[in-house]
Amino acid sequence: MGKVVMALDQGTTSSRTLLFDRQGKILAVAQREVTQHYPRPGWVEHDPEEIWQSQLATARDALKLAGLAPADVHAIGIANQRETTVLWDRNSGEPVAPAIVWQCRRTAERCKAIRAAGDEPMLRHKTGLVADAYFSATKLAWLLDEVPDARRRAEAGELAFGTVDSWLVYRLSGGRLHITDPSNASRTLLFSLESQTWDAELLEYFRVPDRVLPTVMPSSAHYGDTHPELFGAPVPIAGIAGDQQAALFGQGCLEPGMMKNTYGTGCFMLANTGERPVRSEEGLLTSIAWRIGGETHHVLEGAIFIAGAAIQWLRDGLGIIASAPETEALAQSVPDTGGVYFVPAFVGLGAPYWNPDARGALVGLTQGTGRAHVARAALEAIAFQVAELMEAMTRELGKPPDALMVDGGASANDFLCQIQADLLGIPVDRPRNRETTAAGAAYLAGLATGFWDSPEEIRALRTTERVFEPRQTADWRAEQIASWRRAVQRVLL
Ligand code: ADP
Repeated sequence: MGKVVMALDQGTTSSRTLLFDRQGKILAVAQREVTQHYPRPGWVEHDPEEIWQSQLATARDALKLAGLAPADVHAIGIANQRETTVLWDRNSGEPVAPAIVWQCRRTAERCKAIRAAGDEPMLRHKTGLVADAYFSATKLAWLLDEVPDARRRAEAGELAFGTVDSWLVYRLSGGRLHITDPSNASRTLLFSLESQTWDAELLEYFRVPDRVLPTVMPSSAHYGDTHPELFGAPVPIAGIAGDQQAALFGQGCLEPGMMKNTYGTGCFMLANTGERPVRSEEGLLTSIAWRIGGETHHVLEGAIFIAGAAIQWLRDGLGIIASAPETEALAQSVPDTGGVYFVPAFVGLGAPYWNPDARGALVGLTQGTGRAHVARAALEAIAFQVAELMEAMTRELGKPPDALMVDGGASANDFLCQIQADLLGIPVDRPRNRETTAAGAAYLAGLATGFWDSPEEIRALRTTERVFEPRQTADWRAEQIASWRRAVQRVLL
């Protein structure tokens, strides 16, 4: 039996590989940057070949760092940037175009037309998503329309479409496996939540020939092995999940009602809703968390566009801090913000406002306002946005979770975690291992191959580093949120 499980964490800005032992301890981390291509305003592309090569290189680097051989790897699990769309030649394995990254807005007009035609409710009903350029369907349609000869070749069965998980597995398996999992499939706008299969009507709607589609497999299963030449020995490929769902799994949120929030550039809040897909009236998305055995779990998901990015702006835009972690002591050096609110609506506001035209503001400034007040207001703004998103989630779910599991770069900030607990009125629980995305991928692969035996064992691997208990009253919370809302009102157009 291998000593480690290998997690491939293919993210937007980097490819990473982490090795986990049976206790869930990380034995090695290897990372390589991925080049961002911006061929036109609003367009974002990756080179699929670079995605693959960088991922493969980190896998080899990680083994070297840990001093392990391929035979020591029990299984490989994959967590990937979601929705990013790759189209390649089935025979040669060569991409026919650059990957269209989830952030890319090139199909925004198409989505606008879909909404104008009144077709969004149909998409929403079938997929749990909205008509937005983020999701894969319009990206794939664009490739089929714009890449010379692509549509004919797709119809002839010569081309393969996949999100990044599919692409990596295809290459890892030497072209033998063309698969994906429901967590990724449910982000394409082509997958029916109800039947849990590719939806014939949606395929027709987006003019996608079904021959390009990967086979949808469980999120945790021994799909096949890596091509022997890649590592010198075959390794089982046994887990796939989109990065946010992987993080939910890695946080041990395996039961309905459990919730995690990732504090990165933006925030992603996901609630496990179990076998039941919860439909939202508030612009939250419904997707599949994972399918294991015959059992499918769903998520309710909400996003905040600007979170850690507000801290980055204090550093790079304003230059009032030298590093993000500095904000913790700075915020604590003043008793409050002195009435300052920072609404970081740099790119509009997401749930629950859905106002794309709003722009940011710093309000309540006086001559006494210093950089500490602004830094504190920026951290509080992250927490306020999360609190509002939690309110929307709670309205849909009926009750808040027992605790909020947190991860992501900015969750390292103790001040932020404490104010978050205060504003939510529930404990904020920070794990020792904050590599939750990679952990989720590893757990899915390890569960499929007997490296770990049960979900209970997986849950026990997630240990708490610190719990931030709420210290404020419900009245205080209501007052704070009301003041924040008044500040937000000033930026709504
Ligand atoms: P992503 O995966 O979106 O790139 P990360 O999870 O790596 O993001 O987190 C990076 C973000 O977190 C940055 O926007 C940074 O400003 C913020 N950040 C990192 N450390 C801290 C900290 N100690 N306090 C506040 N913000 C932080």
